[in-house]
Amino acid sequence: MANTVYNFCAGPATLPKPALEQARDELLSYQGTGMSVMEISHRSKWAADIIAEAEENIRTLLGVPSGYTVLFLHGGATLQFSMVPMNLLGGAGKHAEYIITGSWGVKAQKEAAKEGEARVIWSGKDDNYVRTPKPAEAAVSPDAAYVHFTSNETIQGVEFFAEPETGDVPLVCDASSDFLARPVPVERYGVLYAGAQKNVGPAGAAVVIIRDDLIGKAPEGLPSLLDYKVMAENKSLYNTPPMFTIYMIMLSTRWALKDIGGLKAMEERNRKKANMLYDAIDGSGGFYKGHAEAAFRSIMNVTWRLPSEDLEAQFLKEADAAGLLQLKGHRSVGGLRASIYNAMPVEGVEALRDFMTEFQRKNG
Ligand SMILES: *Cc1c(COP(=O)(O)O)cnc(C)c1O
Repeated sequence: MANTVYNFCAGPATLPKPALEQARDELLSYQGTGMSVMEISHRSKWAADIIAEAEENIRTLLGVPSGYTVLFLHGGATLQFSMVPMNLLGGAGKHAEYIITGSWGVKAQKEAAKEGEARVIWSGKDDNYVRTPKPAEAAVSPDAAYVHFTSNETIQGVEFFAEPETGDVPLVCDASSDFLARPVPVERYGVLYAGAQKNVGPAGAAVVIIRDDLIGKAPEGLPSLLDYKVMAENKSLYNTPPMFTIYMIMLSTRWALKDIGGLKAMEERNRKKANMLYDAIDGSGGFYKGHAEAAFRSIMNVTWRLPSEDLEAQFLKEADAAGLLQLKGHRSVGGLRASIYNAMPVEGVEALRDFMTEFQRKNG
């Protein structure tokens, strides 16, 4: 096995090496306490400081305006599929609207439909999810409680590069797989949420950025853990939060801020990485075929096919032996997928690109 491996898993995913190294260095004794982050009280000042810095880093990176609350919640992104409608769909005659550009949007809408009316206003299903809608294709009704979209569809590799236009209707976004990948105008959003394990940490938490007027709309009787108001009033500390996950979020957002230099630099780096792979695909004379239409292809998840399933299997086997790991595409799309989130180093993508070129030379 190669000494250096690059992990292209879609999630859980590669974390920034400096963040892992720091976690290793203070695993047994966090800041000289003689205790690990996993062992200290979540009511201690150490824990409060970790949560505060994680929040502050996210606010600085995204330029979160005042009037928004940042929460660290249990249940990953999937629980947000339910919490969003549970909190925002209350009131007779209310309905939500969903723009569906891939598999995660399908799941989000399905959960919302258990809580109330969740209309699909646009779906890319008929052409197998290769693009996002043009503004005129996804007409929003002004009386919708919110409009939900998935900024990056992790499985298909389809990404929005501009927000859907929703007028005064709150925009809700599942940004799990492109969170902190580039600057985003947070003021356009009602709720922006992301499971941690793609871009900012290990599994165990969702980061939820919510506009304050959308907090406190939950119906009576909702369990406390599912109520944004309870979680906001308790600063994500209503019960024991996943402290180690939040600690890793703190370290990886610190890396994004200090080592990378913020989200403009992050976007530049991410585009450079993605372009390397798309150039290899586009320049392959049809040997490699990308899944998404060029204008909508993701800078986080690059999805493509080879001329046959046999060649795909051979590619995976040889890539694995070369230390390029977890490149198998999701079964619903097939082929290959390289997840190149924020923490994937440029060298990892260069190694994959070179491997692709060489593989084609030998088998094309
Ligand atoms: C991975 C993923 C999810 C699911 O996240 P969990 O934290 O496992 O619930 C939801 N949405 C998108 C876009 C994802 O990539």
